[in-house]
Amino acid sequence: MNVPKWSFIFWAVQLKRLLTRDRMIQMGFGHDPSCLLCTTANESHDHLFYQCPFSAHCVSCLQSKLGVKFPVENLARWDSSGRARSKLQRKLICACHIGVAYGIWNARNKARLEAYVIRPDVLVRNVVKVVLARFWARNTASLPTKDVRWIQSIS
Ligand SMILES: [Zn+2]
Repeated sequence: MNVPKWSFIFWAVQLKRLLTRDRMIQMGFGHDPSCLLCTTANESHDHLFYQCPFSAHCVSCLQSKLGVKFPVENLARWDSSGRARSKLQRKLICACHIGVAYGIWNARNKARLEAYVIRPDVLVRNVVKVVLARFWARNTASLPTKDVRWIQSIS
């Protein structure tokens, strides 16, 4: 269900390896440190993925859509708060979580290149759509009713 480029960006998020504006300026490229998504703070790795209002809104939308709760500040280190959930649900939640991290970075890049910022609810809806499409494309086995109902609720 994971998209390889999502996984790569998620890995880079965890290691703080993305070229955020603070790193670019340190390397001698660019002058404007402001966050492209909220313009209220300087863009750093911690800001972009843990403090930015845009990212917080994305996480909030994801939590609401999936019916789960996990701490905003723990975007990269989230460890399946829903222990009562089935393994399948946890896998889908994890894939959506990784997709939103990628989506935030992608939104930031689009804001830089196209001066356009996607709405957080649209970003989350697109991520869930991709995850479910990949799941249904690979899944041929019948599912427990509990999982089917949950998937229908997030579709
Ligand atoms: Zn921001």
